[in-house]
Amino acid sequence: METGQEGELSGYYRDLVGRKLLDEETIAAKVSELGRRISADYRGRELLLLSILKGAVFFLADLAREITVPLNIDFIAISSYRRDRRRGQETRRVRFLKDLDQDIEGRDLLIVEDIIDTGLTLNYIVQNLWLRNPASLEVATLLDRPYRRLVDLPVKYQGFQVPDEFIVGYGFDYRQQLRNLPYIAVLELGP
Ligand code: 5GP
Repeated sequence: METGQEGELSGYYRDLVGRKLLDEETIAAKVSELGRRISADYRGRELLLLSILKGAVFFLADLAREITVPLNIDFIAISSYRRDRRRGQETRRVRFLKDLDQDIEGRDLLIVEDIIDTGLTLNYIVQNLWLRNPASLEVATLLDRPYRRLVDLPVKYQGFQVPDEFIVGYGFDYRQQLRNLPYIAVLELGP
């Protein structure tokens, strides 16, 4: 696949960009639709958008500009790794590297996530945040793999359902690269 953007990427990573799943226009239209829904649902209220560094920052920046109610933005950073895949069990260890800068008690919180797969990472975060007594807490995710879910996690705003293939671009990285690809593609590691 050859576009101007890929020509700018270094050769090694450019060669890993496979099939395009979602182009810029399709992503923008969906983000705009989600922004309209969120604006209508939160009319007369003030939102706190909470994003998880780093991948979701691209979606957050675009979504925030499509929301018309007053809003604040905050970030958390976590480290998340899989543990114990024996006996088909999968758990996820999540550690906060950076907490929110502000108190969320009594606030309307909307978590803006890039993709939900098993849901284990986000479930840990949601459980933690509920203990701080927000007025409400909802989740908006650009991409979703609901068929991979291992926990029951309500997702109010969902962009696209995607296949179980590794995704890069529009914030999604492979080894911290390819986040700046303006569209969403599948990673192709080759034989
Ligand atoms: P979960 O805890 O829901 O299984 O994993 C969610 C996290 O895994 C996402 O926030 C993201 O960081 C990462 N992730 C899941 N699927 C992909 C993917 O296809 N590409 C990339 N770059 N990251 C992914």
